[in-house]
This record gives sequence, C-alpha cells and structure tokens, in this order.
Amino acid sequence: MKIIHKIEELKNILKDKRTLEIGLVPTMGALHEGHASLIKKSVEQNDFTVVSVFVNPVQFGINEDFDKYPRTLEKDAKLCENLGADIVFAPAVDEMYQDTKELTLVCPPYSAINKLCGKSRPGHFDGVATVVSKLFNITGCTKAYFGQKDAQQLFIIKKMVKDLNFNVEIVPCPIVRENDGLALSSRNSYLKEESREDALKLYKALKYAKELRQKGINDRQILCDSALKILEGTLVDYIEIVNPETFEDWQDEKEPALMLIAAKIAPTDTRLIDNMEI
Ligand code: AMP
Repeated sequence: MKIIHKIEELKNILKDKRTLEIGLVPTMGALHEGHASLIKKSVEQNDFTVVSVFVNPVQFGINEDFDKYPRTLEKDAKLCENLGADIVFAPAVDEMYQDTKELTLVCPPYSAINKLCGKSRPGHFDGVATVVSKLFNITGCTKAYFGQKDAQQLFIIKKMVKDLNFNVEIVPCPIVRENDGLALSSRNSYLKEESREDALKLYKALKYAKELRQKGINDRQILCDSALKILEGTLVDYIEIVNPETFEDWQDEKEPALMLIAAKIAPTDTRLIDNMEI
C-alpha cells in the first residue's frame, strides 16, 4: 500500500487503471471501525481501493474544530493496509486548494441545506460537495462509499451525483456502533469519561422513538417530545423526522421515517449526530 500526498502522482498511478473498478472511501482520518466497514466493503467490491484522508478546511465554520480535529495519519495508514486498501491519499491543504477564498464551489440546493446540519453549519455542505467532487475527478473512481451516520451528507452527495452526472455509484454503508449503542465517530475522542452517559442519550432517544412507533404511535410531536426528554442534560441542536428518500418533513405514517438528532455534550461541547429509521 502506498501513501500519496500529491494529486499528480495519484493521477499517474491511476492512469493505467482506467479499465479497473476503483473504489473511493473519502474520510477525514482518525479512522475507527465505522470507517473500516466502508474500506472493507470497497476492497470486496473493487479491484483497487483509494482511501482519502483529508481534514477539509472548506467544510468547517470559523468557530468549529478544524484546528483540533484529530490527525493520526500513521495509525490510519496501518489500518488501511491491514484492510487491503491500495492507496491512502493524504494531500496537504495547499495541494487541494491554492486559494480557499477564490474557489469554485459546488453548492447543493437551498432546500437540501436549509435544515438539520446544513442549518446549524452554514457553508458546511458546499465544502463537502466541493471536496467530494474534487476527489471523484482526481481518482476517477467508479464507486464511492459513504456512511449512513452522516445521513444528510449521503442524501446531498447522491443528489449531486445525479444532478451533475458524475459517473460514480454511491454505496451507502450502515452505522457502526459501540456495544452500548454509541455511534462511532472521530469526535468521540473529545468526550470525557464522565460524559459518555450523556453521549449515549442520542442512541437511547432514537431507540425509544422507534419503540413508540412499533407500539403504533405516529404523532411526530409525541415522538420528538419523548426523545427530547431522554436527551435532557445535553444541548440539543435539532431533532427532526424526515422521509429518508426525499429528506422532506415526515408527513404520513405510511411513509418511512428517519429520526435525526444533533446535540452538544458537556463539558467539552462535543457536537454529536446520530439517526435511525424509526
Ligand atoms: P468522516 O471521517 O467523519 O468524514 O467520515 C468518513 C466517512 O465515514 C463518512 O462517509 C461517514 O459517514 C462514515 N462514518 C463515520 N462514522 C461512521 C460510523 N459510525 N458508521 C458508519 N460510517 C461512518
């Protein structure tokens, strides 16, 4: 397995692999078993797997955690190698962007970003769509792997691929959780031991809402309020129920329902997200 830092070098390696199936797993590093599940799937389904490790400044707001985001490239590369990946692509910021202020952006439609994470993180999904487009063009991948943990991101990327005719198949991958239910996230490393109980409330709230639905409760207000009760002690950013196909507000009990939660966990103000079909 090779670690590549330069775009031209990666393009040169991939030039004579045009006839192969190339899988791309875009990540920001600090890899865990959630990322590993995407990489494993790509290795299974493709001739060649590229894992990108890039903390993308364009998707971070000014008061967000770009500077303190964990960077563990050496460890990440070992994991990728053990899983059978072929290349880790880890460019520096100035390799990907000559000037982030004068950058052509890929902007998802307002309807897709004016809710959930897009609403609380202005500009975030422009940054995501832009970097993912660049990675598609640089690698020429035929498949790309995204976790359902970032459900709105997955929805936006699928829409972007359709709207802009990218020749890439998007492969959604299920959320990987700890034994107690906590969704794996690179940001879990910010949590203090004593905040774990609060962090777990996202999963518990989703599970409870699912149980209520199974008991025949279909009132969105009751479902959200019941979940909110469990989230007491966290700072809830949003709790919503959408149709997972359209990401429109969930209206009708016959439609599938995806509940999504974002909440900050004290004392480090760690912002966690989670979701579940209920
Ligand atoms: P990130 O490094 O956080 O940008 O995540 C890179 C990819 O891994 C994204 O497609 C995420 O949705 C996915 N991912 C992160 N955490 C998990 C998880 N717990 N289960 C499944 N996929 C995940």
